[in-house]
Amino acid sequence: MDAANSQSMSEKCVIDNCRHIQRALCKCCKQDLCYQHLWEHNDSIISQLNLLKNEIHHVNYRFKTLNIPEIIKAFQKQIKQWRINSYIIIDRLYDQKRQEFTEYIEENVGKQCEYMDQLQKQIDEFIEIEDGDQQEIKFIKSNLNDINEKIDRIEKAICPITILPLAIDEHSIQINC
Ligand SMILES: [Zn+2]
Ligand SMILES: [Zn+2]
Repeated sequence: MDAANSQSMSEKCVIDNCRHIQRALCKCCKQDLCYQHLWEHNDSIISQLNLLKNEIHHVNYRFKTLNIPEIIKAFQKQIKQWRINSYIIIDRLYDQKRQEFTEYIEENVGKQCEYMDQLQKQIDEFIEIEDGDQQEIKFIKSNLNDINEKIDRIEKAICPITILPLAIDEHSIQINC
């Protein structure tokens, strides 16, 4: 009796509270269903497929109507701005270093000129009072040599300058795909 009962129970549709006899195995959910629930499952699959079809159509439409020239234009606008900003940085450094170098040269030349004026006066004085000895002449000569060498260096612009090529980090612009 119990066995017969359980057999008849197992033949009912597996959907909760459904009292109908199971008629077929639904392929989508692998459950034994009555006709009514089988049709419901079938309808549900078809409506989901139709929704998917619409979604695919919509995504496809979005791809096909992408304004690629507009996207490229927006990107170019951004890197153009980066280029302008970079040039500004270079120009600023160029002006700053030009100014620094001009000040350095003017200050150095100024100092040497002052020293030369002093030397000139000293010589004039020595000549006027007929003073001065070999040691003083030797000292002035050696100073003159030093100054001549300095002028040579300034003329040839041999100064303590190091100019490195500009290192640009390729990662400054990254395309994050
Ligand atoms: Zn099903
Ligand atoms: Zn059912």
